[in-house]
Amino acid sequence: MIPEAKHLLDWYDERARVLPWRSDPTPYRVWVSEIMLQQTRVEAVLSYFERFLAALPDIHALATVTEDGLYALWQGLGYYSRARNLRRAAQWCCEHNNCQLPDTFAGLRALPGIGEYTAGAIASIAFGKPTVAVDGNVVRVISRLDGLPGDPMALQAPVREQVRAMQPPSRPGDFNQALMELGAIVCLPNGAPLCDACPWQERCAAHAAGRELAYPAKKEKPPRRVEERLVILVTDGSKILLHKRPDKGLLASLWEFPNEPLHGRPTDSA
Ligand code: SF4
Repeated sequence: MIPEAKHLLDWYDERARVLPWRSDPTPYRVWVSEIMLQQTRVEAVLSYFERFLAALPDIHALATVTEDGLYALWQGLGYYSRARNLRRAAQWCCEHNNCQLPDTFAGLRALPGIGEYTAGAIASIAFGKPTVAVDGNVVRVISRLDGLPGDPMALQAPVREQVRAMQPPSRPGDFNQALMELGAIVCLPNGAPLCDACPWQERCAAHAAGRELAYPAKKEKPPRRVEERLVILVTDGSKILLHKRPDKGLLASLWEFPNEPLHGRPTDSA
C-alpha cells in the first residue's frame, strides 16, 4: 500500500462518521444509500434511510411496492426519478437475477439510475471490487492534492487515473469512502478546507502553495431558466382538483394543481 493510501485509511478508520449503511454494508443498503445521497446531504438522508429500509427491507419488497407507497417513503427527499429508477432496477433484479443486485461494475451500470460513479461505489463497497468512484468531491480533493489545473469536467479522467493508481487492492471500498469522507468533512466544497485536520496536509500541492481555493477551476453555470405559469385552483368546497404530470420529464408522475404557461395573462382573475 502506498503511503498516501495508508495515511488516508488510518485517518478514515479513526475519524469517519458512523453511518448506518457503513456499519452494515449489504449490497441493498449500500445501493439505497448511494441513490439517496445523490444531490442530497448525509444529514438529510439519515432519517429517510432508516424509514425506507424498515418499510422495504429487501429488493423484493422494493420491486413490489406501489408507486404511491414508494413516493410516500420518498416524500421530502426530492428528485423522485431516483425512487422510480430504484423500483425499476429492483424489478429487473427480481425478473432476471433472483432478486439480487449484479455484483459487477458492468452489471450495476446497466441498471436504471446507476451511473458510473454509483456503479463504482457499490461494486467496491458492497462487493470489494477494485473500481473507482469519482464525483465532484473526489475531483476537488485530488485536484488540490496534485495541483491539477482545469475545470471539474476536464479533470474527471486524470482524477480517475490517479485514484486507480492509489487505491489499495485490499480495501478498495474503504478507500473510495475515505476519499468521499475527506471531501465531505475536511476538504470542504464551500469555504476554506480544514487543512490542519487533513492526513494529506504535508503532501498537498495546493496547500503548499497556499492556493487551496484555486482548485479545481470554477466552471461558469448557465443562467437559471424562470418559467411563469398560471395555476388554476378548482374546488367544490371539500375537494380540490389535482392533475398528474406525465411519467417523463420534470417532476414526472407527481400530482399538481392544473396549470399552463402564463404568456402575458393576468395574474389575478377576481
Ligand atoms: Fe484539501 Fe487541505 Fe487536505 Fe489539501 S491539505 S487535500 S487542500 S484539506
